[in-house]
Amino acid sequence: MGMGLASGCAEVDLSGYEVPAPVETKVELPPPPIASFVPPVVHNGLRDDMRVALTFDACPTTSEYDERITKVLQETRTPATIFLSGSWVKHSPQTVLELAHNPLFELGNHSYTHKHMTELKPSEALAELLHTQAEIYNLTGQIPEYFRPPFGEFDTRLASEVGKAGLTAIEFDVASGDPDDHATKERLVPWVLKLARPGSIIVMHINHKQFHTAEALPDIIQGLRKRGYELVTVGQLLKERPPPLCNDPRQVSPLQDAVSSISVP
Ligand SMILES: [Zn+2]
Repeated sequence: MGMGLASGCAEVDLSGYEVPAPVETKVELPPPPIASFVPPVVHNGLRDDMRVALTFDACPTTSEYDERITKVLQETRTPATIFLSGSWVKHSPQTVLELAHNPLFELGNHSYTHKHMTELKPSEALAELLHTQAEIYNLTGQIPEYFRPPFGEFDTRLASEVGKAGLTAIEFDVASGDPDDHATKERLVPWVLKLARPGSIIVMHINHKQFHTAEALPDIIQGLRKRGYELVTVGQLLKERPPPLCNDPRQVSPLQDAVSSISVP
C-alpha cells in the first residue's frame, strides 16, 4: 500500500547536538490549606482535679427512656450531660423538654440517626450533626456545644465536620459497659469505681430499660463522692479549668472494645 513511515524519513544527525542546560525555575508553594486543622477531641478533664463527669447517651430512635435514671440524678442532686440523638428528640419531645428545663442537666448532640459516622460522606455526617442541633434548638432553645460520636467511632474526617458544626467532640475514658448482658449492678458499681480517675468522663445510657444502669447509679454516685470526687457536667469539667486536648482522633478506642472489657472482672 502506501509508503512506510520510516522509509521516507531522512536520518537525523545528532552528533553535534548539545543538551541545553536546565532552566532554573522558582516554584512558589501554595499556602497550607486551612482545612488541615483538626478540631480537638476530649477524653477527660485535668488529672489533678478531683472532678468527674457522668454522661448518658440516648441512642436509637425508638428505644424507651429510662426515667429511673433521671429520678436518681434528681434525688442525689447530681449534674450530668445527656447526649441525645436527633431522632430520639423527635420521638420524645416531652421528655427532652423536661431534661432541658432541669438545671442539673446539660444536653449534647449524639447524631441524628446513630449511624456509623466515620462511614458516611462528610456532607452526610455534617447533616446528621446540624439536623440534630436544629431539632434540639427548635424544641428547647438550647444549642448543644458537645458531640458524642455514636459507638465512640471517630476519625480525622469526622473531626472536620464536627468543627464545622461548631461542636467539640467528647469521648470518654471510662466505659461503664452498661450495654453488656452481664453488666449487672454487682458488676457495674465496682467496675466504674475502679476505673474512675480525677477528670474522668464516664459513659452510660439513659434509654434502655433492660440495662442495669439505674439500679447501679445510686451506689456509683455515692462511691464516687465518698472517694472525694465532685460530680459535674462536661461543660463544667472543661470550662472551669482548661482540659487536655487531643488532636489525634485515632487515639479513640471504639466503644465495642470498651464494652467487651466489662467481662474482665
Ligand atoms: Zn449511642
